[in-house]
Amino acid sequence: MNTGLQLYNTLSRKKELFQPLNAPNVGMYVCGPTVYSDVHLGNCRTFISFDLIFRYLKYLGYKVRYVRNITDAGHLEGDRDEGDDKFAKRAKLEQLEPMEIVQKYTLGFHDVLRMFNTLPPSIEPTATGHIIEQIEMIKVIIENGYGYEIGGNVYFDVEKYSKEYNYTILTNRNLEDMLNNTRELGGQDEKRGRLDFALWIKAKPETLMQWQSPWGMGFPGWHIECSAMSAKYLGAEFDIHGGGMDLAATHHTNEIAQSEACSHHQPARYWMHTNMLTVNGTRMSKSAGNGFLPLELFSGDHPLLKKGYSPMTVKFFMLQAHYRSTLDFSNDALDASEKGFRRLMSAVGLLEKLTPSAENDFDIAALKDKCVAAMGDDFNSPVLIAELFEAVRIINTVYDGKAKISSEALTQLKQLMSDFVFDILGLKDEESSNTDLNGVLDMVINLRSEAKANKDYATSDKIRIGLQELGIQLKDSKEGTTWSKA
Ligand code: AMP
Ligand code: ZN
Repeated sequence: MNTGLQLYNTLSRKKELFQPLNAPNVGMYVCGPTVYSDVHLGNCRTFISFDLIFRYLKYLGYKVRYVRNITDAGHLEGDRDEGDDKFAKRAKLEQLEPMEIVQKYTLGFHDVLRMFNTLPPSIEPTATGHIIEQIEMIKVIIENGYGYEIGGNVYFDVEKYSKEYNYTILTNRNLEDMLNNTRELGGQDEKRGRLDFALWIKAKPETLMQWQSPWGMGFPGWHIECSAMSAKYLGAEFDIHGGGMDLAATHHTNEIAQSEACSHHQPARYWMHTNMLTVNGTRMSKSAGNGFLPLELFSGDHPLLKKGYSPMTVKFFMLQAHYRSTLDFSNDALDASEKGFRRLMSAVGLLEKLTPSAENDFDIAALKDKCVAAMGDDFNSPVLIAELFEAVRIINTVYDGKAKISSEALTQLKQLMSDFVFDILGLKDEESSNTDLNGVLDMVINLRSEAKANKDYATSDKIRIGLQELGIQLKDSKEGTTWSKA
């Protein structure tokens, strides 16, 4: 099965023809969120990009098994096995069980992705649900000689591994430079080598999430979960592994090392990395404090926002950039996307009103070829959108009576818009879809109830007043909150 699809492989640093191991089956693993706080729009960009990739692979006829994990344990604040556990810290802060934190932010993550109209993955495994698989993998790594235990901690021996394999294969960095740029081993650091990383971490008595293992009570290091879960659901060798670009240097580099140390071959044939969403040139991140939350985005209630934007406007704004380019968040760019998205949707709305004619002025098959070529060139959504605006021009010209379209060409045009606008880009007409409004309002009402329960009346009032300004009236009763259009 050759679909002619070219994709950029971080491993080879060039575009390659996509040749799955067992076509028409495709296995794709994407690193999911660490669910210790709300996802911000930067995270959403990465998942929207892989949704586009998932949707297009399906359009091409592949049977895709898309695995996207939930990191719900083992992620320390520092990438180098240091700092507090993100979940434990948050649990203390919010006075909740760590698993309550996990549940709360997993649900929030799903709500947000649903608003962006992304498809659910085929499997969404959690790190805490695969502790046994991770322990088994660590055992094999130790047996194969690439891992060692010291006092209840297990580390990966990077030096031993890099004698046989290329540890920096993904980023092409110079190992010597890395060694020189990595901090000296401190007096208390028991690792053998400066680049060694934790596979298993010994629990302290007060550690909230800990499990029994051959090395005593502890919890897995952050990287092992993805190696264990991708191998379990996609096999030791599979087609595509993805994530944000920020994961390549440490998390994915270590994933490759673990998988190779275990099975002696590379886990994924194609590594795909999405570029970052930035704000004034700085990466949007939780730690930088420049992350927009969905609610702030809808209401426009954020110092950097002029007004609110709908989820589809934001999604359209993201899709207007290629997934490997950085994208800077700005009001002007969002205003332009809002106008562009409306133009696209009104043209789609006109399709049913066009009257076919015996004559025909347009080659829709050629336009479709251009759309396929755009997506076949490493999922180039901005070029695809430019082609779709050619379709918009055709629709408007026929509607204005300035050109003619045959019945056959009109059928092709309707199919093209249905495939590329809705199935592949995953857009939807927000104004005509009341069920979507219901979903968004349910989420906003839930967030307000949570704020009220936490006695955060400033936020709950802000939501009520914000909705009122948008023409939505909330009514509180014993049974809960209902809404109506004012
Ligand atoms: P995290 O929840 O931090 O583990 O991140 C989840 C995903 O979002 C990872 O694939 C990250 O690479 C990605 N990500 C984080 N920040 C950004 C950003 N500013 N732009 C795009 N993707 C991001
Ligand atoms: Zn991962």
